[in-house]
Amino acid sequence: INLHVEAVSEPPPSPPSSEDFPDLSQHNNHMAKYLTPAMYRQLRERATPNGFTVDGVIQTGVDNPGHPFIMTVGCVAGDEETYEVFKELLDPVIEDRHGGYKPSDKHKTDLTSSNLKGGDDLDPDYVLSSRVRTGRSVRGFCLPPHCSRGERRAVEKLSIEALASLSGDLNGKYYALKNMTDAEQQQLIDDHFLFDKPVSPLLLSSGMGRDWPDARGIWHNDNKTFLVWVNEEDHLRVISMQKGGNMKEVFNRFCTGLTKIETLFKERNHAFMWNEHLGYVLTCPSNLGTGLRAGVHVKLPNMSKNAKFEEVLKKLRLQKRGTGGVDTAAVGGVFDISNADRLGFSEVELVQMVVDGVKLLVEMEKKLEKGQSIDDIMPAQK
Ligand code: ADP
Ligand code: MG
Repeated sequence: INLHVEAVSEPPPSPPSSEDFPDLSQHNNHMAKYLTPAMYRQLRERATPNGFTVDGVIQTGVDNPGHPFIMTVGCVAGDEETYEVFKELLDPVIEDRHGGYKPSDKHKTDLTSSNLKGGDDLDPDYVLSSRVRTGRSVRGFCLPPHCSRGERRAVEKLSIEALASLSGDLNGKYYALKNMTDAEQQQLIDDHFLFDKPVSPLLLSSGMGRDWPDARGIWHNDNKTFLVWVNEEDHLRVISMQKGGNMKEVFNRFCTGLTKIETLFKERNHAFMWNEHLGYVLTCPSNLGTGLRAGVHVKLPNMSKNAKFEEVLKKLRLQKRGTGGVDTAAVGGVFDISNADRLGFSEVELVQMVVDGVKLLVEMEKKLEKGQSIDDIMPAQK
């Protein structure tokens, strides 16, 4: 009896925080910019009600000093309370990442797709496909970096039940990753419908890849224009996409489907995590607010080689990626161009920026093709 009691009673004393402070000397991410030894000492004394600690918050940013294209955030949330419990670190990260968004600011949501102006006529000779995605977290469960296997399975079960109620154009089926063959999985990845296997070090170090592929999967409608990823980086990723440049149609379907899904979860007593300040609460602080990334795969072989490319993107508040996903480089002048912001702008405003910005980029591409200058159509800072 004595032995047993000794074995479970006293955890070893933890070393002083100065001995545990990570080496951030080579780092270029938002977390590393703000985490000081004094802040670390203070935050190390805390945990969320679910037991998520500051080390869980920062691990991905410690292991990944930087990224070739994007200034990464370097931290994640493990549950809804993370943003409050570790706000001394997360508030400045959020402010920096989201263009000066203050702790007192309030976020606006607008999922009324009829408020979008235009967007149905992006030139399909250049715009190969259009897509809008967001994330949603189900209240009552820890987020992917910290959830237990049971919680992850409960999120999957709830999602399967809720999504089974969608009908008409949105009628679809759930495919669990563990029931797919490697070839089926790879085909869906290659066709840009499915998330990649957890190969990205950003994902792996955050803890999101634990127990892969347990309780992960994809639900999609019959013609693969409306898709829901389950238990990747967020509990849910909701995606609307199609070939060509009709972003309006894509956004319409996105808003309709997403609103239905929210209702279906509420009917099952699980609201989505949301508050007035942060909007929709998601795993990565970069996705807070709308969680929305509206993007196109667009051919810009000339524009992307132009010295003004970066400046134009910045002025239009757009971001570029490779077409294979966030960790890939562009091939053959085709880029994934999407909104850079998530928070402080409504869903409609962000899609509007993409629609207007991509239109201008295509116009610039056409001018450069003909050997003309783009100086007369340079945009002002949005
Ligand atoms: P997300 O922001 O959704 O996590 P990623 O960059 O990780 O985006 O890419 C996820 C997958 O979605 C990749 O397979 C990518 O090719 C695909 N994808 C992203 N945008 C588009 C688009 N406009 N058209 C087609 N596929 C896209
Ligand atoms: Mg991704």
